[in-house]
Amino acid sequence: MEKDVHIQYLKGVGPARAKLFSKLGVETVGSLLRFFPRTYENWKDTVSVFEAPPDTQVCIKAIVAQPPEEMRTRSGKLLTKTTVTDGAWVMTLTFFNNRFVKNQLEEGQEYLFFGKVQDNVYGGREMLSPRFVKAEGGTGLHPVYRQTPSLNAKAIAKCVRTALDTYPSLLQETLPERLLTQYRLLSLRDAIEKIHFPQSEDDITAARRRLIYEELLVLQLGLLQIRQEKNEGTANSLQTDFTKEFFAMLPFTLTNAQQNAIAQCVEDMKHTKPMNRLLQGDVGSGKTAVAAALVYSAVKNGFQAAVMAPTEVLAEQHAKSFAAFFKDTPIRCALLTGTLTAAQKRNIKTALAAGEIDLLIGTHAILQSDVEFSSLALVITDEQHRFGVEQRAKLRAKGCSPHTLVMSATPIPRTVALVIYGDLDISVLDELPKGRKPVRTYAVDTSYRPRLYNFIKKHLDDGGQGYIVCPLVEEGETERVSAQVLYENLQKKEFRDYRVGLLHGKIKPKEKEDVMRRFASGEIQLLVCTVVVEVGIDVPNSSVMVIENAECFGLSQLHQLRGRIGRGSRQSHCVLVSDARNETARNRFKVLCETNDGFRVADEDLHLRGPGDFFGARQHGLPTLQIADLTTDSRILHIAQQDAKQILQTDPGLDKKEHAALRTAVAALFTDIS
Ligand code: ADP
Ligand code: MG
Repeated sequence: MEKDVHIQYLKGVGPARAKLFSKLGVETVGSLLRFFPRTYENWKDTVSVFEAPPDTQVCIKAIVAQPPEEMRTRSGKLLTKTTVTDGAWVMTLTFFNNRFVKNQLEEGQEYLFFGKVQDNVYGGREMLSPRFVKAEGGTGLHPVYRQTPSLNAKAIAKCVRTALDTYPSLLQETLPERLLTQYRLLSLRDAIEKIHFPQSEDDITAARRRLIYEELLVLQLGLLQIRQEKNEGTANSLQTDFTKEFFAMLPFTLTNAQQNAIAQCVEDMKHTKPMNRLLQGDVGSGKTAVAAALVYSAVKNGFQAAVMAPTEVLAEQHAKSFAAFFKDTPIRCALLTGTLTAAQKRNIKTALAAGEIDLLIGTHAILQSDVEFSSLALVITDEQHRFGVEQRAKLRAKGCSPHTLVMSATPIPRTVALVIYGDLDISVLDELPKGRKPVRTYAVDTSYRPRLYNFIKKHLDDGGQGYIVCPLVEEGETERVSAQVLYENLQKKEFRDYRVGLLHGKIKPKEKEDVMRRFASGEIQLLVCTVVVEVGIDVPNSSVMVIENAECFGLSQLHQLRGRIGRGSRQSHCVLVSDARNETARNRFKVLCETNDGFRVADEDLHLRGPGDFFGARQHGLPTLQIADLTTDSRILHIAQQDAKQILQTDPGLDKKEHAALRTAVAALFTDIS
């Protein structure tokens, strides 16, 4: 294939535009050709001014009835107004700060105007900043791209046109001839042409079918190749099940879901084939207790276990939970973190190698090469999807292939999980412990703040605790609430009679731990913090959470945050504070106010974000998809999976000439992930 060209060198782009494209993730001409429209506007079906429904994008064919007139608002903004008529009715058009429109719209000319029609205060009909083309020859489907104000769909489409005409060699066919024939797929060149410039709905369907199939085939080829390299090794088998003994020590009865999950893991671990299981359970579903039961059984069988968390704060929290679970047992736990002195670390490592420690807790650092276990049988990772191929390889290099359990609060739809994990087994905790009250969620704007503070105070006076979560503040940003500033303010003014704490990523580990300890013990009543509390922190007495600038957080992230409350018997409340008016933010808030169900949240998240970006695909070590959607394209996914298997059976390295283009595509798709 011809070498790709930097977008800057495409005719009509240049350095300034190249920067704008870069913001959209388009760096080269090749990636521009594969920068697919998000959707299309249908400008073919026009309605009359009279019929246009409110709040709906419509297309109206109308003649400009008077020359556009420019005027200034009191604040100095430029307004351009004109009147158009569809023959029966008139409508006002208003444009803001558009210096060009005056010369673009000619009196007496007929145009297609695309936008929303509203009734203005004078009782007439009006369109605000509609887009338009001359009616003659301008009918059809208009692509809508992910665009920025300075780089609109029209400009993008024009660049795509130039790219198609100037660099056809970038579009050499990737799929083998026989697959094209078998599924009657468009050629790559035709598909790219039609996805950007469709003449009909059928064009779009055919182009999408081809491109989705190709993307999923390449994805499956890559994933299968990674798995081919994996050699499982042999694990220690746990002959006796001691979990029942553990249940008797618990201060609560396990839910049925917890018991089932434990039973499934126990069954897996009886064998020498390493367990490879995902434990999925919404926040608060009690994953830690499941982990503890398994650790208990492994240790009683004479083996060691390790529990890993993504951050030190979480590792410390786990150390506390496990210590509490095991307080009446002889199990020896140790916490290995970066804050220990060199001597302390050395002691732990020596004890571990000598088999004097049964359970080691820490971050991923505990897999470092100089940590030796004497008889590791079980590794559990919490809130972490990437205990994948990479980590298993590290452990195998040390001569052990332990049973592994990955715990996650991010509900992954089954189809997606199958793609990501392939041979992974899944247990689901679909039941919350008894007595939990669902969190009530509200969305308010900043004018509610005084009332909100009184609401929090009532909770604190009542013996409860609470969080105020702020977004991470980037340098130079002023509109967003910063945790530091808010903390100082609240402590001095509104909450001076209360004990307020501050927690964010820049606080020293020692201090952080101190704050967490004081919050957990109830000494701190109100914790001002950033997303550091997002996962895993467990203070059941906290019953209120306020999330500032809630629009800055993703849907799943908001759900995770909210999972920090509603863990006790108290009725909990979560308040999303935001002045954002945009639809994306509003939709997110609506979903959260409506449901506490993590699976529904995840589903909505997928829909709201669209393909390619499902809850941070990168977290899972999966490449970002351009066009396929793992939830809705599951049929094609299935076919692609079969085909990928077949291809690799005869050509495991994709070395055959007919697969050369596929091999390049696999490499390209998997380059940006580690
Ligand atoms: P998560 O799944 O979010 O990690 P945790 O394991 O932190 O949830 O459990 C949340 C809280 O519920 C903890 O305080 C834990 O002790 C408690 N818990 C776990 N299982 C049960 C149960 N079956 N009944 C009552 N409380 C439970
Ligand atoms: Mg947890």
